[in-house]
Amino acid sequence: MRIPLIAGNWKMNMNHESGKDLVRKISNKVSASDTEVVVCCPFPMLLEIGKCLSDSSIMLGAQNMHWENSGAFTGEISADMLLELGVKYVIIGHSERRQIFLETNHMINLKVKKALERQIVPILCVGELLNERETQQTERVLRDQLENSLVNITTQEASKIVIAYEPVWAIGTGKTATPEQAAETIGFIRGWLKEKYGETLSEKVRILYGGSVKPDNISEIMESPNIDGALVGGASLNDEDFINIIHFQH
Ligand code: 13P
Repeated sequence: MRIPLIAGNWKMNMNHESGKDLVRKISNKVSASDTEVVVCCPFPMLLEIGKCLSDSSIMLGAQNMHWENSGAFTGEISADMLLELGVKYVIIGHSERRQIFLETNHMINLKVKKALERQIVPILCVGELLNERETQQTERVLRDQLENSLVNITTQEASKIVIAYEPVWAIGTGKTATPEQAAETIGFIRGWLKEKYGETLSEKVRILYGGSVKPDNISEIMESPNIDGALVGGASLNDEDFINIIHFQH
């Protein structure tokens, strides 16, 4: 059985005070349950947010990392630095990093490998652009992103990965993929995993949906048995919205 996962991606938002206030409110309402919850805050807040979460079942996540252990990489953060701060999850290959910071599948592959080596769970993001969906290229794009981001990742390693399907046209736009589109595309990703790594692995890996997830659409998104949770942007910045997304079953 796959444990549902709801991860909040704060992106470049919040500050120490508002961030601490938010996680205190969330952790008061979220007890250890059958849903895992992760908060991916900006790097400078990891220490303080991590302290606020120390008595909580909510886990700490980062939004990016570099693939080298150390060295002359001005402005970058290594996996070991994240581990020192108690980070358990790291978002890798978010579409904003692919598009704005020109991250390639090769770079993403190196990051996924390093995260796995250091036992930080990578949340690998994949997703197509609007024109790619409109020209029926979604599956080709996803296959390309998956194949090239998971080069030389063994079956055992792959079992630790979380995949987030985030159609780029649904991010921050208020346009959610329909439950059918999300279910169909995530079904395709699970099928790809089965082809590459076999059925046992494909049934183990958690696949999340991301893109304008809100309290009022989470239930219908989660109806598909292939969808194991959500990667939430904007709605993770509001305690009530995020709590309602976490408690969507009730
Ligand atoms: P929104 O939920 O704001 O659309 O962002 C989705 C996202 O990019 C999460 O990583």
